[in-house]
Amino acid sequence: MNRVFNFSAGPSMLPLPVLEKAQGELVNYRNSGMSVMELSHRSDWFTEIITEAEQLLRELMAIPDNYKVLFLQGGASQQFSMVPMNLFTKSGKADYVNTGSWSKKAIKEAEKFGAVNVIASSEEANFTHIPDVDSTMIDPEADYVHITTNNTIEGTAYAEIPDTGDVPLVADMSSNILSEEIDVSKFDLIYAGAQKNIAPAGLTLVIIREDLIGHAPENCPAMLNYKTHSDSGSLYNTPPTYGVYMAKLVFEWLKELEGLREMEKINREKAQMLYDALEESSLFQSPVRKKSRSLMNIPFVSGSADVDAAFIKEAQAEGLETLKGHRSVGGMRASIYNAMPVEGVEALVTFMNDFEHKHR
Ligand code: PMP
Repeated sequence: MNRVFNFSAGPSMLPLPVLEKAQGELVNYRNSGMSVMELSHRSDWFTEIITEAEQLLRELMAIPDNYKVLFLQGGASQQFSMVPMNLFTKSGKADYVNTGSWSKKAIKEAEKFGAVNVIASSEEANFTHIPDVDSTMIDPEADYVHITTNNTIEGTAYAEIPDTGDVPLVADMSSNILSEEIDVSKFDLIYAGAQKNIAPAGLTLVIIREDLIGHAPENCPAMLNYKTHSDSGSLYNTPPTYGVYMAKLVFEWLKELEGLREMEKINREKAQMLYDALEESSLFQSPVRKKSRSLMNIPFVSGSADVDAAFIKEAQAEGLETLKGHRSVGGMRASIYNAMPVEGVEALVTFMNDFEHKHR
């Protein structure tokens, strides 16, 4: 079997034991005589899958009882609209922190529904760091504050979650959910597309404090109202059943690993290995300021488009796949989500050293 180390920003690697488990159950799930893909979403088999998926996630993230877990579709991009549609309920004002391309898209969408105030931005520094956000910057009347905890394209992450006091904190956690221990109670709504640390693309996870549900305007489309999905246990319409099943397997894999504390330890080791290699390199460097460096997405540049192109091509020949950087940053980007094994990062670092010696 020729599996490569896939450094894609998403869809990205899934843990091999998860893929193998799914393979073993593919055509006949637990003697049902059917694939999970063929099960009715109202069947007992699927009810058990979605119930267990939720329970495992609650356990892994220590989600307090007053939060709902929703399994939705539409990607994180749909949350850019659902958040303002459901949460602009009092002042019609929201504070956003602009830390990159995805934040900008979230801001653009929210502006269609209310008054958006960008309270901090690192755009003038090419998004190479996370700007300081303190409680004095937050409008106490704002309906919510929105942050992107990990910026997939720029490779930045918050070293500390801002304290927003009584103003609800909404986080796009698409690219670092489940990568480290977090205190869910610091947030009021967390959303994430599944295709990085959860499951295949097509599933979107929302964790929302109960009392934020049910205040959308009358004309909010049913599918875009959190209440619809909360009231029906994410079964208002056909959910992405196979995605929920895969998420359940990934949650089981994380639990067997001994949870997010262990996952975080491994992720810190992997990222450190790569950042150390970049510090030592005379060819490559990280464009990101030290205190804002992401554990998940690590861009690096040589400064020469030709060298970058040769690196990406030669790396691919060595089984190091999808290292091309996002077009807005250039160079390379190694996305090292939960499923990227330590050996993958070791192989990348070894290759970087060899490449550097050859091209010196
Ligand atoms: N937010 C972040 C931080 C992302 O990385 C992405 C996708 N890469 C999105 C939002 C958009 O997600 P989706 O494609 O699921 O709509």
